Amino acid sequence: MFTEDDFFQLSALQHYVYCPRQCALIHVEDAWRENVFTVRGDILHEKVDTDTYESRGTVKTVRGLKIHSFRLGISGRCDVVEFVRRQTEMSVVPVEFKAGQPKDDISDKVQLCAQALCLEEMLNTTVARGEFFYAKIRRRVKVEIDSELRRQTEEIVARVRELITNKRTPAAEYSAKCRNCSLEGICLPKAMSDRKLKRYLKELYLQSGG
Ligand code: SF4
Repeated sequence: MFTEDDFFQLSALQHYVYCPRQCALIHVEDAWRENVFTVRGDILHEKVDTDTYESRGTVKTVRGLKIHSFRLGISGRCDVVEFVRRQTEMSVVPVEFKAGQPKDDISDKVQLCAQALCLEEMLNTTVARGEFFYAKIRRRVKVEIDSELRRQTEEIVARVRELITNKRTPAAEYSAKCRNCSLEGICLPKAMSDRKLKRYLKELYLQSGG
């Protein structure tokens, strides 16, 4: 079990899946820079993270709920949690709002699963599914919180903890992702890759007795 002092932000998981260097720059080196994608996401979250709740029929909707897990050592906030009553059963469903559309990687799903794990611990319940609302396609997408997603999420939590504990920022690897990364101007992935190449060539040169 961790204490509050050990908590890291749940958003670090998404950052890690996107790029471990991005995660270290933000959560180890405190670097942050806005771009069109982060601003679009912030505007959407300002609309939904309102710390309010409402009840309609069998559904109670809570917005901006703060969450944590002492077992995993993470904390964060859910855009929306829906408490849905069916006869004597109550299901708990985290709903995350995204400005874009479903991604090819598992970053969004890992974030949702981590929210589910926090809610399970806090409410002593089981969260079987979560949902995304993607603004670009204007519809909800359901995600099963199954054993494989739970395993992947816990593995990423462990890797992020290792990265934050060791305070070691991985070297830049330039890829297509860098073009959409708000930290490109701080990270300088092309320059860093060039530097790595130069170091490699220098080592080769020295090994050959040059
Ligand atoms: S610019 Fe590229 S390498 Fe650098 S943090 Fe962003 S995604 Fe990672």
